[in-house]
Amino acid sequence: MTGSFDLQSYMTKGVERVVAEALKATLKDPKESAFMLRFAAASRTASKKRRRAEDAGEHIPPFLIASITSRCNLHCAGCYSRQNHATTDEKAVKQLTAEEWAKLFDEADELGISFILLAGGEPMLRRDVIEAAGERTDILFPIFTNGTFIDERYFTLFDKCRNLIPIMSIEGGREITDERRGDGIYDKLISNMDEFGRRGLVFGASVTVTRENFMEVTSDAFLDSLSDRGCKAVIFVEYVPVTDESSELAPTDIQRDFLAGEIHRLREKRPEMVYISFPGDEKLSGGCVAAGRGFFHINSHGGAEPCPFSPYSDVNVKNGSLRDAMHSPLFTALQSGDILLDDHDGGCVLYEKRALVEALIGQKGC
Ligand code: SF4
Repeated sequence: MTGSFDLQSYMTKGVERVVAEALKATLKDPKESAFMLRFAAASRTASKKRRRAEDAGEHIPPFLIASITSRCNLHCAGCYSRQNHATTDEKAVKQLTAEEWAKLFDEADELGISFILLAGGEPMLRRDVIEAAGERTDILFPIFTNGTFIDERYFTLFDKCRNLIPIMSIEGGREITDERRGDGIYDKLISNMDEFGRRGLVFGASVTVTRENFMEVTSDAFLDSLSDRGCKAVIFVEYVPVTDESSELAPTDIQRDFLAGEIHRLREKRPEMVYISFPGDEKLSGGCVAAGRGFFHINSHGGAEPCPFSPYSDVNVKNGSLRDAMHSPLFTALQSGDILLDDHDGGCVLYEKRALVEALIGQKGC
């Protein structure tokens, strides 16, 4: 799609690596590896669908991020979703229904999208949507959750629907986690992890990497505390400032390069877990992979956005298909323009160039 760099092959290689590492990490659990083998086959079918579309001139990304609610019970310091007003304490209005999300998941499957990351707000508040996701076993649904609503009924659901993978947000040890998320959150997360481990259920951890917790969350002590409890994946999410005040929290370029090197080291030295960094190494992916290059975002009321950190949309899936959203005027302009490929300081080019993004949609939004 862009010059000689074959983005589809690059993204599919990334998917195949994650699936292969997940297969390796779950080998000891017969029920889990049986599911992962079936998913690996479904993922290959999805890759072929995307390749056929690519050869016919249409680019389909393998990932979708779906924010299924604008509500959350926590008020974490520096929460991008609250700062973007995508998460509020007001009554949730105009949210997509479970039927609308189910239709969207089926469209994604037909297109060849094999990973749908469920986020929010706090996604566990939408049990109806999560149960609909559980029925779509050809798609893997990592659920980015604060872990506070995980109860007996959810443990039973995760045992039944192995395509639902809870990814619990943690900042490091008790002190730094409770400082950002609230008292008692760390202990709740650890008791969840111990219970997942006891039941042999797969789970992961999402770590927001800042200048403050940088060394702690890449330390062997912290990673041991996760893998010893049965954690199978660690998603390092580089903190993306969404206000000038919070830009001091974003990792420096030196720290980001160190993190990229660390992840390569961990993949070799600690294969018991899968390691993913977001937004990842743009130098390798030929620029930012948002806006449908590697993924895109559907917000809680159906707006199609380049990324959760770039809350701009000019198309709503309530008025059209997922395919239409993928080819929105904004996405088309971003994919054909230079913004996504631009050099930039810090973690997020779309945040840095937000004035240009706003100009592209004339602030109309929907
Ligand atoms: S749990 Fe997530 S959505 Fe809720 S306040 Fe914390 S960071 Fe924001």
